[in-house]
Amino acid sequence: MSSKILIVEDEEQIASFLRRGLSYEGYEVETAADGASALAKARDARPDLVVLDLMLPGMDGLEVCRRLRTAHSSLPILILTARDSVSDRVQGLDAGSDDYMVKPFALAELLARVRALLRRAGPGEPEILQFADLRLDTGTRQVFRAETRIELTSKEFDLLELFLRHPKQVLTRETIYDRVWGYDFGGESNIIEVYIRYLRQKLEADGRSRLLFTVRGVGYVLREET
Ligand code: CA
Repeated sequence: MSSKILIVEDEEQIASFLRRGLSYEGYEVETAADGASALAKARDARPDLVVLDLMLPGMDGLEVCRRLRTAHSSLPILILTARDSVSDRVQGLDAGSDDYMVKPFALAELLARVRALLRRAGPGEPEILQFADLRLDTGTRQVFRAETRIELTSKEFDLLELFLRHPKQVLTRETIYDRVWGYDFGGESNIIEVYIRYLRQKLEADGRSRLLFTVRGVGYVLREET
């Protein structure tokens, strides 16, 4: 059931951030810090998807991408890079990658793209995540409480999806920053509180019960009222 993801990244900090984030979502993770070991791991570990940095020591990332594509025609490749010009993106896609993300990135977006690529590669369907009377459709990005449709902004949706993937688990503020706002987030420290307040207002409209609870000094949890 769990998919295996190969991370090709020479920057230790980003590699371990990705490893942590992907492992937390239940993926099996392999890493490689240069092109030669990436090609060897792709052959031996048989990953279901590759996250590929372009600026690598030795063999260039685009060359790694071409060789991966030649050797494994249907392997999804997500390029992750600091290069963000249109010609860089075109080159990346021409080299056989399936998708392209520019650093800095939000982990929630990377996870969404990884899921999309794995879905396209396999027979999977969009997921319906449910808790109590709350229902979230990752395909249409619609949210309902019972039969009432709830309109969320993109960030509110990402935040709620994170809670629905980890029901009854206390999510620390650090985890939430990581997942929804990205590893380099350095903005206002009350942004999570603000978004939780937005979500509560929308989820609790018409006197509906509370589902998002504050765990003082730690973070937040999706659970039912006790
Ligand atoms: Ca790099």
